[in-house]
Amino acid sequence: MSSNPGLLYVVCGPSGVGKTSLVRALVERRPALSLSVSYTTRAPRAGEQDGVAYHFVTAGRFAAMQAAGEFLEHAQVFDHHYGTSAPAVAQALQGGRSVVLEIDWQGARQARARLPGCVTVMVLPPSVAVLRERLGGRGDDPALIERRMRDALAELGHWPEFDYVVVNDRFESALDDLCAITRAAELARERQRTWVATQLPELSPG
Ligand code: 5GP
Repeated sequence: MSSNPGLLYVVCGPSGVGKTSLVRALVERRPALSLSVSYTTRAPRAGEQDGVAYHFVTAGRFAAMQAAGEFLEHAQVFDHHYGTSAPAVAQALQGGRSVVLEIDWQGARQARARLPGCVTVMVLPPSVAVLRERLGGRGDDPALIERRMRDALAELGHWPEFDYVVVNDRFESALDDLCAITRAAELARERQRTWVATQLPELSPG
């Protein structure tokens, strides 16, 4: 056990890049991490449970939470509002639990400004052709697919702001990469100081 606070991981990437499946698999493989459940004003999609996929709230409730400073970050993405609960994240981190946020680039910017120690990751597709295939695989209207492509490329354009860049070509290897990033962050020298001081006091400057 260490007395370090938890780490905050921010994972971004447009729809079609596979980030939702990746972060779900990440928290399954690494039970020390938990996935933050965001608040949103959008309606639940089929199969989405309140409190699991999101906390689904009215625009009024969202605005009240925003006015009360309850969001660590929040953004309008397309036509809806999304936000991360600041108290929920703070409580987990203070309790030594690490938290993963799956949010958009605007939220990542705010999280970085508020918590500069957070670790940010952008998930990229292996190519534009693969992204188009993943976004258009549902027999949708070509204009809609082009609109999704434009939105996706706009999000991906923010990749230079991120600490790490993971390419989701083969799912398992992208997952290994995400796990490696989180493990490396835990092993950073500053986080090992407490362990060294208590377990190997001979190494502490005297
Ligand atoms: P969807 O409505 O398809 O679930 O999500 C749409 C977009 O909103 C995705 O890019 C997702 O990452 C982003 N998003 C989900 N939750 C949050 C959040 O709490 N904050 C921010 N800034 N973006 C979010």
